[in-house]
Amino acid sequence: MNSLFKKLLGPRQTEYFVVNHNFIIQEISAEVQNYADTPSDAIPGADARISFPELIGIENILMSIVMGRRPSFELKGIARFADNHRPLYFDLLAIEHENEQDMASNLLILIEDATEKMVMKQSLIQRANEANLLVSALAASKDYIDKVIRSMGDALLVTSTLGIIKTVNQSAQWLFGYSEAELLDHPLSKIVVEETLLYQARHRYILSQKELLRELEVVCITKTGEEIWVEFSCSAIQTELQGLYDFIYIGRDITERKQEEIEIRRSLAKEQELRQVKSRFFSMLAHEFGNPLNTVLFATQILKEYGDEITNEEKQEYLEHVRSASKHMAQLLDDVRLLSSAEAGKLKFNPAPVDLQKFCSELVESIKISYGKNHKINFNCRKNHTSLAKKTAQESEETQQLPALDSKLLRHILTNLLSNAVKYSPIDSNIYFQLNCHNEEAIFKIKDAGIGIPIEDQEQLFESYYRAQNVGKIPGTGLGLSIVKQCVDLHGGQIEFSSETGLGTTFIVTIPFYKHR
Ligand code: ADP
Repeated sequence: MNSLFKKLLGPRQTEYFVVNHNFIIQEISAEVQNYADTPSDAIPGADARISFPELIGIENILMSIVMGRRPSFELKGIARFADNHRPLYFDLLAIEHENEQDMASNLLILIEDATEKMVMKQSLIQRANEANLLVSALAASKDYIDKVIRSMGDALLVTSTLGIIKTVNQSAQWLFGYSEAELLDHPLSKIVVEETLLYQARHRYILSQKELLRELEVVCITKTGEEIWVEFSCSAIQTELQGLYDFIYIGRDITERKQEEIEIRRSLAKEQELRQVKSRFFSMLAHEFGNPLNTVLFATQILKEYGDEITNEEKQEYLEHVRSASKHMAQLLDDVRLLSSAEAGKLKFNPAPVDLQKFCSELVESIKISYGKNHKINFNCRKNHTSLAKKTAQESEETQQLPALDSKLLRHILTNLLSNAVKYSPIDSNIYFQLNCHNEEAIFKIKDAGIGIPIEDQEQLFESYYRAQNVGKIPGTGLGLSIVKQCVDLHGGQIEFSSETGLGTTFIVTIPFYKHR
């Protein structure tokens, strides 16, 4: 073998051996025995087929190379298993080789170590197989998950960190009435009214230990504009980008349950209110009927037991006590009856033309006599309605021009407000009653300088039997303002007041004039 050729083979880790036409080894390289099946037989003079049994059966092919009929022959990936069980692979290339001395043609067999290449190839194949298995396992599990998602009874939505919808299932499409295409790539706010609630939930989720957030009850809106209540649970999955999450919402329609809850809460509140009204009614009964009843009992007992001993004058006085106590109780009963028929919707609104200025003046006079002997009631009337109370030649014309109101209801309104103004203000104080008549409405303003109404009582003031905490020993039933409110409502009017404790109260009632159709 020429030395140049040997030099060329050296760095490539290529070993070789030369055989003659009988396959007897003529020459071998230093390490060729490493590749032999039986290393001790890989020596010059031995039959190469003993140490390299791979040559058996291909002798004809190899001889055709020696005879110049074929340029080369290659066997790739021959494996040897040594005792240490580490596989050794090599490629074998046979080419013609001319003996320098006798010019006879021999066969040069080159051996190239392919162990590293083969191991790498095998591991690549193994990896590729594993990857294929993984891909099919993933596909199977995706298919499985898709089936689960599709068959879920609950609505499922997946959004990006910014709340853009990425996935919806069939139940979500049914629930919100949108198709998949109408929801994908749209913001969650398209269906969730209070999206900030979910935004806060997402934020909490990230800040917290990433526990599943449950029972987020939010109002959603369907494609047809219907509002529904949905209870969501929310969790997140980390995306490929650090710090960015996709959010998974699983929602269930709880509209029915919510409506039931609202209904229950409403009836509980109603029940509570009724209980309060009942207890206020009984306490009013005890207070307001107790005193006059005692008076009646006491006076009648005196008359019965000492009737012969007392003077006629004294008798008249006791009888007067009985009469006024009975009148007071009858008035209370009237009020209770009036309120209950108003609450039952039985109080009727019967409008008729009323000369308001005259009506109010007369009412003030009667109040002065019955309640307001110790107060100055100042009445004044401003008319922006030219025809109001204006005397014309034709009586019928005048009647037509007067505003139509229900004078019976109006009497309840004004009597209660004026008598309260008297009752809750100090003796000798001024009460101002002003009537403003416009074309379409009348405004009644009653102002006193009395005890006022504490701010914390103001909200409940029109409830039946409700009395403010500062009434002290001033008698009352808590019925008057309820009656006033009902009467104002029947007129389609409004009542409002402003008050400051210790300074006084102003009630303003606005009554629109009834229009004949
Ligand atoms: P009452 O018979 O107790 O006067 P009302 O229904 O007429 O019942 O009034 C309800 C409550 O409103 C009164 O108990 C009182 O606390 C308060 N109130 C009504 N009008 C006045 C007013 N002019 N000044 C102070 N408090 C008033």
